[in-house]
Amino acid sequence: SKTAYVRTKPHLNIGTMGHVDHGKTTLTAAITKVLAERGSAGFVPFDRIDRAPEEAARGITINIAHVEYETDTRHYAHVDMPGHADYVKNMVTGAAQLDGAILVVSALDGIMPQTAEHVLLARQVGVDHIVVALNKADAGDEELTDLVELEIRELLSAHGYGGDSAPVVRVSGLKALEGDPRWKASIDALLDAVDTYVPLPERYVDAPFLLPVENVLTITGRGTVVTGAVERGTVRPGDRVEVPGAGVESVVTGLETFGKPMQEAQAGDNVALLLRGVPRDAVRRGHVVAAPGSVVPSRSFTARVYVLSAREGGRTTPVTTGYRPQFYLRTADVVGDVDLGEAAVARPGDTVTVTVELGRAMPLEPGLGFAIREGGRTVGAGTVTAVG
Ligand code: GDP
Ligand code: MG
Repeated sequence: SKTAYVRTKPHLNIGTMGHVDHGKTTLTAAITKVLAERGSAGFVPFDRIDRAPEEAARGITINIAHVEYETDTRHYAHVDMPGHADYVKNMVTGAAQLDGAILVVSALDGIMPQTAEHVLLARQVGVDHIVVALNKADAGDEELTDLVELEIRELLSAHGYGGDSAPVVRVSGLKALEGDPRWKASIDALLDAVDTYVPLPERYVDAPFLLPVENVLTITGRGTVVTGAVERGTVRPGDRVEVPGAGVESVVTGLETFGKPMQEAQAGDNVALLLRGVPRDAVRRGHVVAAPGSVVPSRSFTARVYVLSAREGGRTTPVTTGYRPQFYLRTADVVGDVDLGEAAVARPGDTVTVTVELGRAMPLEPGLGFAIREGGRTVGAGTVTAVG
């Protein structure tokens, strides 16, 4: 049978973000390569990161690739998000669980629109620590690279990230992947910065179990499997769970993380849950699996919302009561009617209080972050302040 997952180090979720072609996927591959040589990761080549073959074979559209590795002090699940137009959606649904992020910026190009957009979104979805990989340092001119670093620190400060203290590490994912010792050392320096700068997150392991569903798969002969990161609580084989809004009650019959069976999954873990007697079509991305009776879905909530300015890629025209965009909450994507109350109008760049009536009931709670999208772009971000 397969080797079980043994929890010897704290587990954190991190991910790469940044403009397309700045080297996120190359860097992700390089990290696994450098650590694999030490036996603390499996090497995942560049062309395996964009699409895991297992998932491709099952015909599932995946939009986030996970790799796992260990440093001396921690176990990481690392997500590399693709660089196409759909990036932001995945960033929002994936980043909600990120304990920290690696912002990849090409030393040759500097800050580009998606660099800024991802920093803004990271702030909105509650990522509190960003480490910068100033990538392609092998090809960059020293003075220009210094300027790019200054520019990045300013961008971080502008979004409340403490740009003066954030680590900015000059790396070359490409050269490290090719085995160049100098640049392999740069990957070590980057990982050291992540180890020391991103604090251990508080995990609500004693809260009722909740897992936002990222993917649903069927394993022939075994049943339906849901995957995702545990948002809170703990789950073990034999535990009863439900999927609110889907009319599903079930029992967890198996648990795995990165292909290894585990005895107990807790807040922060990336897991696959095998559910007894659940038809494949009953559960979808956007649902949550929860301890029975622990969540009551609702359709209406009050929130503070920031309407992105046109410069940030947002709307050019104001929003008024009756506005009906898509809300990205956890892994869900649901339409909602916006009521601006007395203010009645919100201009790009404004922060306003709104009430929202969703098209379907969702598990909501104060503090839950979300993004607002229309026509394939992010136009706002907010936090739930009250439910009902
Ligand atoms: P992503 O879109 O951010 O995931 O970027 P990729 O990892 O796909 O890289 C985009 C391009 O930049 C590819 O042609 C890479 O070979 C190149 N690249 C990535 N990292 C480096 C680097 O450190 N140095 C140089 N010179 N090129 C790089
Ligand atoms: Mg990529």
